[in-house]
Amino acid sequence: MNKNINRAIENSKYNQEVKLIAVTKNFGVEEIELAIENGITDIGENRVQELVEKYKILGDKVNYHMIGHLQTNKVKYIIDKVKLIHSLDRLSLAKEINKRAEKYDIIMDTLIQINISKEETKQGISVEEVDEFINSLSEFKNIRVKGLMTIAPYENNIEDTRWIFKELKAIYQDIKSKNYKNVDMEILSMGMTNDYEIAIEEGSTMVRVGTGIFGKRKY
Ligand SMILES: *Cc1c(COP(=O)(O)O)cnc(C)c1O
Repeated sequence: MNKNINRAIENSKYNQEVKLIAVTKNFGVEEIELAIENGITDIGENRVQELVEKYKILGDKVNYHMIGHLQTNKVKYIIDKVKLIHSLDRLSLAKEINKRAEKYDIIMDTLIQINISKEETKQGISVEEVDEFINSLSEFKNIRVKGLMTIAPYENNIEDTRWIFKELKAIYQDIKSKNYKNVDMEILSMGMTNDYEIAIEEGSTMVRVGTGIFGKRKY
């Protein structure tokens, strides 16, 4: 995995650093502990309940990332546990994250999830709405936008995903240049098992890999 990541960085014109997030949904605590022994420092979960259960056992042995759709009424369970929320995609969620973060007197780091591919099944705000959305976040003092996230559709020919990563990188650069309040663009979370190498070539700084590390998920 690290070898492949390093090779992709060599092929990237950005020469960036890349953080590997091990996506541990549907895998148990033993597998996570083994991954930690092998150098994993950050894990991604897409369900609140599963994240909380693992947190109870593993505590601060590892950093937690919320990468899946986040229901507003569940923010309170994770706000004090996660390092980064990758799936900020609507104002009602921002409002709730801000409210809960304020109670803990923390500033919650978030990524805005963007639906580049326009697949109806995918969450995320549309490319056209990004600027307006970021503007509307400026009132939330306990939220900091650290970057962007997207999920590319699964393609058999992974070259078909390249345009998506290119486009997210372009939006990232554009937002970065505008110096919005509360925005500190550092992270581009894109790339999963199927497409992380292409995502890195196009500038990803954070890849979310599950099956590529742990094998097929057991349901
Ligand atoms: C499951 C998941 C991943 C990891 O998928 P793999 O194909 O197993 O690497 C990455 N990001 C999100 C948002 C996910 O839900």
